Amino acid sequence: MAEPQKKKKIRWSAAWGDARELVWTHRRRLLLGAVLMVINQVMGLVLPASTKYLIDQVIVKGRTDLLWKIALAAGVATVVQAATSFGLTQVLGVAAQRAITEMRKKVQAQIARLPVSYFDSTQVGKLISRIMNDAEGIRNLVGTGLVQLVGSFITAMVALCVLFWLNWRLTSVTIVVLGSFGAALSYAFTRLRPLFRERGEITATLTGRLTESLGGIRIVKAYTAEKREEIAFARGAHNLFRNVAKSMTGVSATNAFASLVVGAVGVVIIVVGGPSVVSGKMTIGDLFMYVIFTGMMAMPLIQFAAIGTQITEAFAGLDRIREVMDMKTEDDQDVFREPLPQVQGEIEFENVWFEYNKGVPVLKDVSFRAPAGSTTALVGSSGSGKSTLISLAMNFNQPLSGTIKVDGKDLNTLRLRDFRSYLGVVMQDNFLFDGTVADNISFSKPHATREEIQAVSRIAHVEEFVEKFELKYDTIVGERGVKLSGGQRQRIAIARAILADPKLLILDEATSSLDSESEALIQDGLRQLRRGRTTFVIAHRLSTIRSADQILVLENGEIVERGTHEELLAADGRYRQLYDKQYKFERDQFINPGEDFTPEPLRAKTAPRLSNL
Ligand code: ADP
Ligand code: MG
Repeated sequence: MAEPQKKKKIRWSAAWGDARELVWTHRRRLLLGAVLMVINQVMGLVLPASTKYLIDQVIVKGRTDLLWKIALAAGVATVVQAATSFGLTQVLGVAAQRAITEMRKKVQAQIARLPVSYFDSTQVGKLISRIMNDAEGIRNLVGTGLVQLVGSFITAMVALCVLFWLNWRLTSVTIVVLGSFGAALSYAFTRLRPLFRERGEITATLTGRLTESLGGIRIVKAYTAEKREEIAFARGAHNLFRNVAKSMTGVSATNAFASLVVGAVGVVIIVVGGPSVVSGKMTIGDLFMYVIFTGMMAMPLIQFAAIGTQITEAFAGLDRIREVMDMKTEDDQDVFREPLPQVQGEIEFENVWFEYNKGVPVLKDVSFRAPAGSTTALVGSSGSGKSTLISLAMNFNQPLSGTIKVDGKDLNTLRLRDFRSYLGVVMQDNFLFDGTVADNISFSKPHATREEIQAVSRIAHVEEFVEKFELKYDTIVGERGVKLSGGQRQRIAIARAILADPKLLILDEATSSLDSESEALIQDGLRQLRRGRTTFVIAHRLSTIRSADQILVLENGEIVERGTHEELLAADGRYRQLYDKQYKFERDQFINPGEDFTPEPLRAKTAPRLSNL
């Protein structure tokens, strides 16, 4: 988090197109808003203008008959101004919120359809920030920002005309003063703009880190890393603070400068305007009105600059959103692909190479055929590429070279959406959503009946533990299923896969969280599940893969051996090695039971007595 923020230029042309589209979509409301804004601003001029008549006509000339008219004009103007202000919020504020909502929906839908590789390399928090914060920025385009910009401009122009009409000499001097102020402002905001742009990035990074450390709270606590997380967060928070403080300093300096300029203009008015009144070129009322209108012209100028900055922010957000929106989604790719109305389930790898990072092949020239309905087991030490091979089969990743075929057709030419609808997966780290047990099982088939859910729960041995819960299938599992044990989560995941009734079943260490007893129970369920489906199974316990039709032994991304259990044992190679090691391990456990199994009387004799020490 301490690394310097990358200063990325906004691609104006891209953001500009989006901004134009947004404005165009909301043109009716914006137009109505602009009309309201102009009325609002013009009504704002009435009150100060009436001062002139109050002084010149009523007070100086004693025309009390005009008093009521002036008061009425001022009163009506105030009411209209209040009404238009209210209307503006309704028309533009609400419209802006709606636009933000639409934008959020659009970005979320897009992000969810991006390929898996994108999620591997992007922090979740950053994506959340993109959806929530960056979309918020467009408020300034569709909301009051843009209209206010136009409104300020109009007010300033009208005020300027009135000023010229009142005293052109004085106005010329004022313009020079205000002009230099304007130049200073635009300089100030070119300095401030990058700060606003950075803020989005800083916030995203901070949210990213926070999401991770809260999500992994157990690990954080187990390694007493609270302090470390605290420091990391504090660093990010201060980074954000520095950014905000810097921009606040900039903004308040600008405001202070603005007050100075207004003061300077006041001095000019006294020096030039005072004599004008004395010499009779201006009335006292003119001078009053002049002072007020000068203020009215300066205000929009300041606003102009501030809103300019907000709009820059909006553009920065739009640009970041555009970056995401421009990425090819899996659905985009599907358009050009062949539909897959049904599958037999034959999977074939032909000379498949794959790498995550350039120059580091993770799969090397992998070729094999898994006939429809067969079970293929993948064996190999951890890191040998088993999960990677499977992720390629699910098209989460694409091969660098070589082809993966489904029923003889290149997977890259088939519609992903169709293909994936035949998938069922049970992974090592099974993801449950915060909902009920039933919700999580029926995730693979949202309209499943309770009977269906119960039927698959029986096969997956979910029923046994769920029946003990007070709320049974309506028990809430907690975020990521934290309220269940690993084995229970795994059994739910298996039930979910059974319910999906997949053609292609993937079991990546599906039984790794189960103890031998539950595994034995589950084996029976899994055997039923595998029947008639092309299955890939990765398991550490070799006993679970004995019955596979073929076993592929992977080593450093290469298939070093293949065959059935018996064939591989007879071949006396790598598989035999793995098998013996594990068999010996299991046997040793049996022959030399651990300390805990030492019979009670024996333990009492050998263990040192506390009283003897
Ligand atoms: P296995 O499942 O056999 O234990 P994996 O297929 O998960 O092994 O990993 C194979 C190799 O690929 C490992 O060296 C691992 O570090 C690397 N790897 C796995 N996933 C990624 C990823 N998303 N990005 C980069 N490298 C990865
Ligand atoms: Mg793995």
